[in-house]
Amino acid sequence: MQAEGGGGMKGIVKYKEGKGFVELREVPVPNPGQKEVRIKVEYAGICASDLHILNYDIAITIKPPVVMGHEFSGTIDHLGSGVQGWHVGDRVVAEATYQVCGTCRYCTSGFYNLCGNRKVLGYWYNGAFAPYTVVPAQRLHALPPEISFQQGALIEPTACVVHGVCELITIESGDVVLVTGPGAIGLTALQIAKASGANVIVSGTAEDRARLGIAKSLGADTIVDVSTEDLNKRVNELTAGVGVDVVIECAGNDHAIRSGIEAIRKQGQYLQLGLLGRSMELRFDALVYKEIKAVGSISSRNISWKRALELVRRGQVHPEALVSHPHALADWENAFRLHAEKKELKILFKPE
Ligand SMILES: [Zn+2]
Ligand SMILES: [Zn+2]
Repeated sequence: MQAEGGGGMKGIVKYKEGKGFVELREVPVPNPGQKEVRIKVEYAGICASDLHILNYDIAITIKPPVVMGHEFSGTIDHLGSGVQGWHVGDRVVAEATYQVCGTCRYCTSGFYNLCGNRKVLGYWYNGAFAPYTVVPAQRLHALPPEISFQQGALIEPTACVVHGVCELITIESGDVVLVTGPGAIGLTALQIAKASGANVIVSGTAEDRARLGIAKSLGADTIVDVSTEDLNKRVNELTAGVGVDVVIECAGNDHAIRSGIEAIRKQGQYLQLGLLGRSMELRFDALVYKEIKAVGSISSRNISWKRALELVRRGQVHPEALVSHPHALADWENAFRLHAEKKELKILFKPE
C-alpha cells in the first residue's frame, strides 16, 4: 500500500510528533498498490483537525512523517492492480477513512467510522496536501458532473454533518432547530436542517458577525448574536416558552454547550458535533429532568457520502458559499493562520 513512485513533488508534511513540526517538503510521487488508485488532487480543504495535528492535541492516531490533508477532490490518474469499475480521468472524492479492521462489531454493522483500528488519510497515510495522493478504490465516490471540484473538496465535512444530522438524530418538518456556532460545520448543519423542513436558529458571538450574515443568506430563520442578545429569551419568544426540538452544537465551547442544554425542550434531541478538547462543568441532571436524548457524532460512513453528494447535487447544500479564494501549498503557514484566526470560513489549497 502507498508504494513510492518515480519523481518528486512538494507536500505539507507533519514530520515529527509534538507541537509544530510541519513543513512543505519534497516527497516522492506515490504509486497505487493493489486495489488502490492514484488521484491528481484538484482542491484540498483545511479542517479544524489539521490545526490539531499541527498543535499535536488530537486523539486520532498520527504516524509522522505524513502528508496531511483529508478533505479533497480530484481526478483518477493511475490505477493499481485489481481495481474494477474505475477509470483514469474519473472525477472523484474519497473518504478520509483509509483502513479499518473489517471484522469488529462496528465494521460488520456498517459503522466502520467507530472501528478501533481505523486509520485515516492525512493522519496515518499520506494525504491530499500534495499534487497526488493514493487511496483504496473501495473509498471512492464518483463526483457527478453537476458538482464542481471546489464543491467536491467539501463533501468530506458535509458527509460528517450528514452522519450526525441525518443518521443519528431525527428532524421532523416544522421542528425548531438551534445550531450553535456558525463555522463551516454549523453552516452545513443549518442547510441540512432547512432541507429537512426545520425552522432554524443560528447562534454565534460578535466575532462571528460575518458568518451569521452568511447563515442568514443560507436560509437561517433567526440569527442570534449571544454577545448582545439573550439566547434563551429569544428561544422562549420563538417557541412560546417550550424550547427548541433539536440542538446541534457546532461551536465546541462550554458556553454554547450550556446554553444548548438550557434551550432544549423536554424530550428534545441534542447532537454534539463540536469538539471542546478539554473538560468542563455542566449540570448533567438536566438530561434527567428534561429526558434529553443526547448523542455525539464522529466522522462518516459510506451512506453519509452518498447522501452528502445528493444534497449538494440537488442544490440543498451549498458548500461553495463557505469558500473564498484557493491558496497555494507554499502559502500553507499563512493559510493555517487565517483558519486559526477565523479570517476565512473554509480554506482550500490548489496543489500544483
Ligand atoms: Zn476534516
Ligand atoms: Zn473494525
